Amino acid sequence: MARSKARQRCVVIGGGVIGCSVAWELARHGVAVTVLERSVPGAEASSAAAGILGAQFECSEPGPLFELALESRALHAPWAKRLAQATGIDVEYRASGLLHVELGAAALKRVRDSYAFQRKAGQRVVELGARALRQRLPSISPKAVGALHFPDDARVDPPALFRALRIAAERAGAVFRSGAYVRRVVSASGRVAGVELDDASVVPATDVVVAAGSWSSLVEGAPLPSGGVVPARGQIVELTLQAPLFDAVVHGPRCYLVPRDDGRVLIGSTLEFVGYKREVTAGAVRDLLDAAIGLCPALADAQLSRSWSSFRPYVKGGLPAIGPTETQGLVVATGHYRNGILLAPITAELVGALVRGRRPSLDLAAFSPVR
Ligand SMILES: Cc1cc2nc3c(=O)[nH]c(=O)nc-3n(C[C@H](O)[C@H](O)[C@H](O)COP(=O)(O)OP(=O)(O)OC[C@H]3O[C@@H](n4cnc5c(N)ncnc54)[C@H](O)[C@@H]3O)c2cc1C
Repeated sequence: MARSKARQRCVVIGGGVIGCSVAWELARHGVAVTVLERSVPGAEASSAAAGILGAQFECSEPGPLFELALESRALHAPWAKRLAQATGIDVEYRASGLLHVELGAAALKRVRDSYAFQRKAGQRVVELGARALRQRLPSISPKAVGALHFPDDARVDPPALFRALRIAAERAGAVFRSGAYVRRVVSASGRVAGVELDDASVVPATDVVVAAGSWSSLVEGAPLPSGGVVPARGQIVELTLQAPLFDAVVHGPRCYLVPRDDGRVLIGSTLEFVGYKREVTAGAVRDLLDAAIGLCPALADAQLSRSWSSFRPYVKGGLPAIGPTETQGLVVATGHYRNGILLAPITAELVGALVRGRRPSLDLAAFSPVR
């Protein structure tokens, strides 16, 4: 049953890409929504991401994540258009494709086999031999033996996407509060009543969405899958070139390369379970640079501009936790792990439907927060 908007007041905990996308979706449907962010919106993983929309590359087996990822990838192009209309910001959505390059024949066969199911599922996966790869990507290492090309995977610029989402949400009526640390979800008689901040004040709400990324388990009263949400650190190195060398996302052994239109190239990324240690380590920078220059030797001449690290919200099993909970009005949207940018539009749509009392467009059983 659709809920009456007039009395509905939704609080979103966390101003990352998930919280902002949900806020925009709700606000543009007339729901009063406030985003509570302990720091400033976009402070964490959402601005640190590489921006690969790798629905196919990220899923080497069929299953609910593959379905969810494909649905979300299809939403990105119209989303980018709507964001440009609403804010004037180009989020650099580019239907650039993704090339998964291998340096050895056995490795290429392994990846070919593991992605074979996607062709049967009607998705485009094209194998390129060494010569075709070099035509497509002249700067690739002479050691490359071939690649799998996912022409429909894409990329976006996360900081631009985030800026646009926040502005669009605010223009649609969403309110953002920075420096608002939510300590716990308040509920009574099986129904959510609001949230309590660390100064003990309560923000009343008819609906609460937990979108606190890697910190979601620290919010008291947020029911989450067993094991909770843990941080999976990723480090990135950014290079700057005079002019772009390629436009596709390039994935190779031990690194990926994500180009930006202005000549920057992001080299990612480590995957480390080291708690909330916000560090860039010398070893990781060395390994990423080694792998990137091995894959694309011309990068050795690029300028080293920046490096950073952040935390992917990981739930055991790797599936996000999206859905209602046993407490009425309390919805969870977290655990997007390596794919929060990719999955943001579908998450917003699904959570928006749940909060507005509509039936979600996909079966959420596999993603249930209480699984
Ligand atoms: C190095 C790296 C590369 C990545 N590359 C990609 C990529 O190419 N493609 C892709 O799709 N995904 C990528 N990701 C994953 C993606 O960044 C995340 O899945 C996504 O950003 C998660 O968004 P979120 O909003 O859930 O979390 P976050 O962006 O971390 O936001 C959560 C917010 O909640 C706030 N918060 C926490 N606790 C509280 C509280 N108690 N009260 C109030 N506020 C709170 C935090 O301050 C934070 O701002 C990458 C991640 C990393 C680290």
